Amino acid sequence: AKETGGGRTVHFQPEMDAERQERNMLEIDLRRAIERREINVVYQPVVDAQTWRLVGVEALARWDREGHGPVSPDVFIPIAESTGLIDQLGLFVLRRACEMIAHWPDLRLSVNISPGQFRDPAFAVHVGAVFREAETDPARITLEMTEGYFIRNPDRARIALATLQQLGVKIALDDFGAGFSSVGYLRQFGFDRMKLDKSMVHALDRGGRAVEMLQATVALARALDIPVTAEGVETENQALALKVSGCDELQGYMFGKPMSAGEIDALYRGDRRP
Ligand code: C2E
Ligand code: CA
Ligand code: CA
Ligand code: CA
Repeated sequence: AKETGGGRTVHFQPEMDAERQERNMLEIDLRRAIERREINVVYQPVVDAQTWRLVGVEALARWDREGHGPVSPDVFIPIAESTGLIDQLGLFVLRRACEMIAHWPDLRLSVNISPGQFRDPAFAVHVGAVFREAETDPARITLEMTEGYFIRNPDRARIALATLQQLGVKIALDDFGAGFSSVGYLRQFGFDRMKLDKSMVHALDRGGRAVEMLQATVALARALDIPVTAEGVETENQALALKVSGCDELQGYMFGKPMSAGEIDALYRGDRRP
């Protein structure tokens, strides 16, 4: 048996297979890390596609698991989602990031939101409270969401999205082109921005019809007056093709990996070119 941070005791059954046991340990450690505020937030630069000037940052959660080293968000976010820890984790990231952008008055901030958080009827209330406490102008904030919840619960999703938009935040459809997302969703749900998935960007290097796909996708978004941010931009060729296609903003290792607030601060105070 093991004492958890919350004072609960978890009994490991002998028949519990190794994988499940490891997952349980991960959950226990994650819960404790969230309680102890040991989750870090890093910031990835977002630049204007024309000028490459820094215009914003995307906040990304990081967890350095004690005794184990860094755990990928692709591992701990799904655990947080399936255990309900995501509500706490997500608001923590939002709060921390809102406090940081107070230091960078002309940057916009993107924060990722999981469907699980969206389901909480009080979510918009919590978000509003974070803005008030951090004295954040909601107009500077974009919440990024993937399409899954919108496809599964279109009616509830539409209401939740509109409620958040009433706070003054923008909502982006994340990972566009990775799943089943269609330009139709953008309009149907009233998204404010499209985040073009890195798979579409990286496909540019493999030729085929990737450029045509990209151009058609961006043209549709633009026809709907929805700005486009491309993610995963790693090369100048990609950056050029994206600019020519009409993308508004670019994000990727070429302009900067996710970095500490201190490093963003240096960029911000420097010549504003990552
Ligand atoms: P995402 O929202 O699509 O974030 C973009 C991911 O692409 C990040 O991975 C980022 O580090 C990575 N990336 C950025 N530029 C490049 C590039 O040029 N090339 C390549 N190959 N990758 C690039 P990361 O930080 O590992 O996050 C993975 C996912 O975990 C995120 O995907 C997001 O869905 C989720 N996530 C991270 N932080 C949070 C959070 O605070 N809340 C929620 N709900 N999800 C989060
Ligand atoms: Ca994102
Ligand atoms: Ca994305
Ligand atoms: Ca993603």
